[in-house]
Order: sequence, then C-alpha cells, then structure tokens
Amino acid sequence: MIIVMKQDATSEEKERVYREIHRVGLRYQAIHGVERTVIGVIGTQPDTGRIQVEVLPGVEKVIPILRPYKLASRELKKDGTVIAVNGVEIGGNRIVVAAGPCSVEDEESLIAVAEHVKRSGASLLRGGAFKPRTSPYSFQGHGEPALKSLARAREVTGLPVVTEVMDTMDIPLVGEYADILQVGARNMSNFSLLKELGKQPKPVLLKRGRASTVTELLMSAEYVLSGGNMNVILCERGIRTFENGTRNTLDLSAVPALKEATHLPVFVDPSHGTGRRQYVEAMSKAAIAAGADGLLVEVHTNPEEALSDGEQSLRPEDFANLMESVRRVAQAVGRTAVV
Ligand code: PEP
Ligand code: MN
Repeated sequence: MIIVMKQDATSEEKERVYREIHRVGLRYQAIHGVERTVIGVIGTQPDTGRIQVEVLPGVEKVIPILRPYKLASRELKKDGTVIAVNGVEIGGNRIVVAAGPCSVEDEESLIAVAEHVKRSGASLLRGGAFKPRTSPYSFQGHGEPALKSLARAREVTGLPVVTEVMDTMDIPLVGEYADILQVGARNMSNFSLLKELGKQPKPVLLKRGRASTVTELLMSAEYVLSGGNMNVILCERGIRTFENGTRNTLDLSAVPALKEATHLPVFVDPSHGTGRRQYVEAMSKAAIAAGADGLLVEVHTNPEEALSDGEQSLRPEDFANLMESVRRVAQAVGRTAVV
C-alpha cells in the first residue's frame, strides 16, 4: 500500500507513521517529492491488513497497490526515476547510450573503443570482466585486471563504467571499480545476488531473463529496491522464441509496457536482442521511438577477432552512424539529442 502524506505533514507526523509501520512488522520506503511525501509500505499481505494509519495525523489517504511489485510500481511514484551517475542522468529527457566491447580484452583496445564511442556521443562505457558464457570452454573474462582496465578507460575518457557482476562473492570487487553494476539475463532470477545488490549503493542495470515475463523482470527489480537500493535500470535484451533468424527476439513492446508499469528507467540492448550487427541500428531507432531511455550497444575495433559476440558488435564507424540516426529519432519523439 501507499500512504500519501498531507502537503503540510510535519516530520513528527511522518515519524509516527514510520513507527506504526514498524510496529506491525512491516518496512517502508519514503519518497520525498517536491509537494508531498509518499510512503510505500512493504511486507507480506496479511500484515499489510493489520496496519492502521488512515487515522493518524498528517495522513491524507491510503491506497492499496494492486500489482505484485510495489516499490517498482508507477502507482507509488508517478514521475520517472532519474539516476545520476557521475554527472550522467539516466531516465531524464536525454537519451543515454552505453557502448563498448562485449568483453574487456586488452587495455589498449578498450581505451581505443572508449574514445571512439565517446566521440560519437556515448555517455557510458560498457565491457564485461566476468562473462556468463553458455560453454565453460568459452572465454570467461579477464576478471580483476579487466576491471582495472575499465577504471583506466574511465580515467582517460571520463565515461562512467557499467560492467556485469555474476556472483554475490564478487560484489565488493566489482563495486570498487564499476559505476553501475550489471545483472545479466542469466542471473535475473538469482535472488541471492539481487538481495545483496539491494544492500549496496551503486545503481544496478538489470537485464531481462531470456524466458522471463515483464512482470518477472519487475519482481526481480523489486528484490533490489526492497533491499533499500532504489536505483535500478531495466534492460530489454530479447527473449527466446521459436524464431531463429535472430539470436533472440527483441521484445520492443516491453518498452511501453514497462514505462506504463514502472517509474524506473528502461534501456534496450539491440546487440544481444538481435545477435546481428546489421540489425542493430534499426532496432536502436525503434527502441528510442518506442520510449526507451537508453541503449546498451556492443562496439569493437575489430569484431572479426573479438573474443565474444563479434557478430553483433559494431565497428566504431557503424556506431557513429547509429548515433547520428538515433539523434534524429530522439528529436522526432521529443527527447534530447544524444550527439
Ligand atoms: C552482456 O551485456 O554483456 C550480456 C552478457 O548480456 P545478456 O546478459 O543480456 O546476455
Ligand atoms: Mn555480449
């Protein structure tokens, strides 16, 4: 349920509401808007029924949240969440593009890609240090040395870094280097990982599972939010269907569905979503037209030699063209240009 406080509610009145929530064994997340404070109450259903806050001073109204996700719900927060990462605002009017190699290979090529994507208008650098590969015999990522290279690339370009964390054990290490922690599609339902990410301060980029519904993605986000970390970015990256002409089926209808259901920013990954370099630009434009707040795009200076996902990686010049057309679509749909 949501408790909407009166505009002139005092801090004592709010404290009293918080105490009542705790008294019945529930938890809350308060959102302090410009006009009023809204309190999202979280806990199990029978407990929610026992709470008596309507009568407390300073409370304007109590609204039940009918959806299974509460803190992620737009019912809780009408305005979109804007997440600031080292000066980059994610979820605002401006389209944010994260670009870089699938895996961090060597530092020199990483920095070269980072400089290219920055020049073309990317605001974030992506690159995997820990790679979730289908085969245990495939390249698994360089681990900590790759994280150090990402930090070095950030130093050179100023681009904040997004990189995947696969294991709860690695959260402190990855958190030391990354600005945004990515949860990959294969880990979307790793609830232990999500719970731990809820307890740390860095924003989380949560990718949709390969066979997960939009509601399941939101429930996974709820795990992070309910741990106290309200900075979650959702990412549509394609789902598995019977279609095999593409690596995955990019479900762009998830974008308006998510924008309706939640206040969290929504990204689209057209690289994993299609698996084919030649489709990435078209799906990027479509994603922005559909209302996405940002893109996650794989770029490699020499895709033929890439250690992972070369087929879907753009060459730097292709990425420059993509950004140019994304800019035009962004303007057409009333979003601020990226370049
Ligand atoms: C990635 O973005 O590096 C990645 C592995 O993607 P996904 O988890 O969507 O497969
Ligand atoms: Mn990849």
